[in-house]
Amino acid sequence: MRSESLDLRKIKIKDTFWSKHVDLVKSVIIPYQWDVMNDQIADAESSHCLENFQIAAGQKEGEFYGAVFQDTDIAKWLEAVGFSLAYCPDKELERTADEVIDLIAQAQQEDGYINTYFTIHTDEKRWSNLCEGHELYTAGHLMEAAVAYYQSTGKRKFLDCMCRFADLICSTFGAEKGKNHGYPGHQEVEIGLIKLYRLTGERRYLDQAKYFIDARGAGENYFLKEMNTPDHRMIFPEFHNYDPCYSQSHLPVRKQDTAEGHAVRAVYMYCAMADLAYEYQDQELLEACKKLWNNITQRRMYITGGIGSSGILERFTTDYDLPNEYNYSETCASIGLALFGLRMAQVTGEASYIDVVERTLYNNILAGIALDGRSFFYVNPLEVWPDACMERTSKEHVKPVRQKWFGVACCPPNIARTLASLGQYIYSWNREHRELYVNLFVSGTAEHQTGNLTLQINMETKFPWENQITMSLSGISEEGIRLMIRIPDYAENFRICSNGKKVPYRENKGYAAVEVKKAGTYEIFFDAGARFVRANPQVRADVGKVAVVRGPLVYCLEEADNGENMSALYIDTKQEITEKASDLFGGSILLCIKGERVVQDSWTGGLYSTAKPEQKPVTLTAVPYAYWNNRGVGEMTVWVKEM
Ligand SMILES: [Zn+2]
Repeated sequence: MRSESLDLRKIKIKDTFWSKHVDLVKSVIIPYQWDVMNDQIADAESSHCLENFQIAAGQKEGEFYGAVFQDTDIAKWLEAVGFSLAYCPDKELERTADEVIDLIAQAQQEDGYINTYFTIHTDEKRWSNLCEGHELYTAGHLMEAAVAYYQSTGKRKFLDCMCRFADLICSTFGAEKGKNHGYPGHQEVEIGLIKLYRLTGERRYLDQAKYFIDARGAGENYFLKEMNTPDHRMIFPEFHNYDPCYSQSHLPVRKQDTAEGHAVRAVYMYCAMADLAYEYQDQELLEACKKLWNNITQRRMYITGGIGSSGILERFTTDYDLPNEYNYSETCASIGLALFGLRMAQVTGEASYIDVVERTLYNNILAGIALDGRSFFYVNPLEVWPDACMERTSKEHVKPVRQKWFGVACCPPNIARTLASLGQYIYSWNREHRELYVNLFVSGTAEHQTGNLTLQINMETKFPWENQITMSLSGISEEGIRLMIRIPDYAENFRICSNGKKVPYRENKGYAAVEVKKAGTYEIFFDAGARFVRANPQVRADVGKVAVVRGPLVYCLEEADNGENMSALYIDTKQEITEKASDLFGGSILLCIKGERVVQDSWTGGLYSTAKPEQKPVTLTAVPYAYWNNRGVGEMTVWVKEM
């Protein structure tokens, strides 16, 4: 039996590291995104999202505006609201959300269909362009939002709307004669359907998700067939010469063993595959998930947990191709990777999946949002020279400063829902084995009620600044529980104490297993000081370079501390790294590293010369990558040449 995340309503986060980000969701991000959706933020990209719904509902005259998947802005906003209301009830916010839900219900068609683009564009035929139309993708996000909203408020209206839509999807798509044999151009509805099934128990939703996964890439490619129909109209010009790899429809999913194509599509699909592998006890599908996971995390993932090496088509490329200055590493893709990893950890009980989840959360995902919660990165480069990020070049997609909003605004609301649901990553419970998994070290309280057990958990830590965690457990019944504490892959000298005495533990799949028979307090310690990390020499971009890492945090050098031209810097890895506590970024630890710099003033040539410039010793300051670009525009790099 898999383990499951604890109820978000019962998790309170009060953490030195995370609270300043998580609290922003309610205080800044949700209201800010609300204003964006209402087009009330000056000089931000227009959203028109609510207006699309008003037009589709017949409340207003007008034209559809935005991307075909514009409805997902509302879906992700509502999902974030749902998660936020779970741990922080707010009547006014709930009332606003209820009004949005009323609007969605009014825009819903007689037969259950919801999609403002296709409803407003009456000349566009529903389901006629699955490749580009994003109807099923949008449906999936709405379903996820409806589930989150029901779980926190107990209100059924949105959920009922989405069940009606799901019923329509079930009766429209399938292998049976007379049904549409297609599958989504952008995976996501599978996750939504599985969540609906888990909440309602309606088996047909699960079977429908399975149909979409099994049909994908089997037989003649549906999208190519669709494109060859006489009245087909393209929506995205870049889909000309469509390669089915882009949407992972080049092979049946079970035959896929390398991560290909559009990174967000891929990881959303792998999430659904992991869920289905569990629900159907489908070993073959689970094996496919493991192969894909290993391919990503062993060969195609950045040290920051970013994925998707190419800015063109936001896609995976080939093994070890991890360029630092024109990569994509979309925030959403890392979020999808975290969701995939959490599922795999819960199905297999293996901590190594959480090592990657933690890497994405503390680095690529957190870098996606400014410390004030008002601007966002879509693309997350590991090296930036702002002047060179020019339009109509290979770095066109790299923005050297966070943006207020985006025309295609998938990432900002995705970060909001991720931060608002951070609790799901911290603990998991396995009912069968009575195991409490502690995956992340985040201060706060949690409660879990199951059978005759009302487990109370209190975690206190300053992680990742300090590697000491105090955990108190109470409410333990006679049978006891097994505490499964993750031993991070970077942790050394991991130990657990209670009442000043060392607690023996059994290591099981990367977790320290401790039998707990009664209430008690545990102290967890490990060493995870700053260290130099090198990449596999196959990673052409990083050979001869090092990254500086401390605990789960990847560090970077910024111009603000180190001057311009990061390529002129060398790190001396034989010297110790010094840690320095700082008030920067709301309190953090900076790293001081000895190295050398090529002295520009010693260069006597023009553009080229046989003369060798001088190098002089310097002390470099590194800051957490998650916080880069919070002090104005400047150069940045994660990988630095090794002396
Ligand atoms: Zn995105």
